[in-house]
Amino acid sequence: MNKKIFRLNFFTSLLVLLISIILVFSVLFEYFEAQVFSELASESTYISYALKNEDVSYIDNFKNNNKRITLISPNGTVLADTSANPSTLDNHTSRKEIKDAMANGNGKSVRYSNTLMQKNLYYAQKLDDGKILRVSTTQNSVIVILLGLLPPIMIIVISVLITSVFLARKISKSIIKPINALDLDDPAKNEAYEELTPLLKKISLQKKTIDRHIHEANQRQEEFKLITENMSEGLLVIDNHTNVLSYNQAAIRLLEIDNVKPDSVLTFNRSKGFRNAVERALGGERAENEISLDEYTYNLIATPVYENSKIIGAVIVIIDITENVKREQLRREFTSNVSHELKTPLTSISGFAEMMKSGKTPDETVVDFSASIYDEAQRLITLVSDIMKISELDESPMQFEKEKVDLYELSYEITERLKPIAEKQGIVINVIGDQAFVMGTRKILDEMIYNLCENAIKYNKENGKVDVIINQSENDVNLTVRDTGIGIPLSEQKRVFERFYRVDKSHSKFVGGTGLGLAIVKHAASYHNAEIKLESAEGKGTSFKIKFGKYDFDD
Ligand code: ADP
Repeated sequence: MNKKIFRLNFFTSLLVLLISIILVFSVLFEYFEAQVFSELASESTYISYALKNEDVSYIDNFKNNNKRITLISPNGTVLADTSANPSTLDNHTSRKEIKDAMANGNGKSVRYSNTLMQKNLYYAQKLDDGKILRVSTTQNSVIVILLGLLPPIMIIVISVLITSVFLARKISKSIIKPINALDLDDPAKNEAYEELTPLLKKISLQKKTIDRHIHEANQRQEEFKLITENMSEGLLVIDNHTNVLSYNQAAIRLLEIDNVKPDSVLTFNRSKGFRNAVERALGGERAENEISLDEYTYNLIATPVYENSKIIGAVIVIIDITENVKREQLRREFTSNVSHELKTPLTSISGFAEMMKSGKTPDETVVDFSASIYDEAQRLITLVSDIMKISELDESPMQFEKEKVDLYELSYEITERLKPIAEKQGIVINVIGDQAFVMGTRKILDEMIYNLCENAIKYNKENGKVDVIINQSENDVNLTVRDTGIGIPLSEQKRVFERFYRVDKSHSKFVGGTGLGLAIVKHAASYHNAEIKLESAEGKGTSFKIKFGKYDFDD
């Protein structure tokens, strides 16, 4: 704008200058021509008076004059001329000034030389005797005058140019300055030019509308962000070219993307399932696929987005179903393990019963068979009881109420219950420590400590020892069950908490194990947000340490 105003100013002054020069010149030229003709007329008048008393040769007196004098007869023949021999000159009747003078008494004309460099001004006057007296003079043409005046004209033009550049710059700056200083944040407050007021009012109105729209859009975006960022599900919005338009942090986390580029969503995950879901959604179909990434499993739901019945993109929701898949797998394994564990004693019972039903089994054998059936039935009862316990913890652990439980007192009670079994093997069981309270469910804590103590006896050596140690630090309450038993090999230590896992199956069965004891312990500890630490040395003994967080009891 500044440049435009500058150019406009500059060229306007240039144009004004040129027009002025042309006008001044043409006016001056006209003026000087009229002057010359008036001079020629007065000179002609003087000579005409003189000619009344003189003859033609009088003309020769003017030969050195700067004017040319010509005397012409009424028939156009040149009688005398100060510049040429009259006999060489042709008839002058066709000349305009002569014709006019013959008709009207005087006439004038201007004729240019062939080169246009000079012009001849002629004034003719009809004398009383009918002859024509013509006085003429030669002048430089406009071109010659202009050429002669070129240096001063150039100086004037250059000075005017410099001045107009300077002024144009100044003017354009002063015009632009208030426009540049306009405060468009508050257009109505500006008072730069009156002419701008309607425009500024319009801008102010539009600004308010735009501000409102931006505010609404920002608010909506904030709301959307707040919702999507708090979702644990990943969310991706793509256009119909698979380019990512929007995403939430969960999507980036779940798909393990380090560097998000505004790229095709297909670069986010290269799996077939992902590509298939995207392609199907953009093809207008709701797609649901499962994809795996490292040890995680995700459910991918891709839905097409329509506008005016045209697909403009898709929304992809990523749900982490790893836990569900694992749980489902565990459930399947558990079901199959339970069936297997139940089948073994039932097969034995069925076998013994079949042999006895014939009635031919000798009495002593019937006694043995009955004892075996009883043992297997006992095993089944223990197994079913453990399955029920673990299922209860699996299903709804929250149903159990928590209370203040003294771990020392509870452990003492449990060891008292177990003492008869321990004594049978010559095992000494002790509770060491002092009162220590935790917030927990007594029934579950009981099962946990009982299982640990029972294992410590079952997998102990004859005349061994079991210590239940209760102690507490500033932040924790610890319960340790330590035995002097057979120990657990290092390679097996990680797996002993799995359901139905036993280091030595036959030994476990022999001592009446179900393989569910430590799984119940693990479940119970996790229900109490407690940590389990297992330390064991083969042939030396095992120690299970349960670390509870300290609860701040008011009393
Ligand atoms: P089980 O009913 O067979 O005892 P658990 O889940 O209680 O099942 O224990 C799993 C396995 O861990 C046992 O079969 C046993 O091999 C081993 N185990 C558990 N406690 C001890 C312990 N105190 N000392 C040695 N081995 C143990």
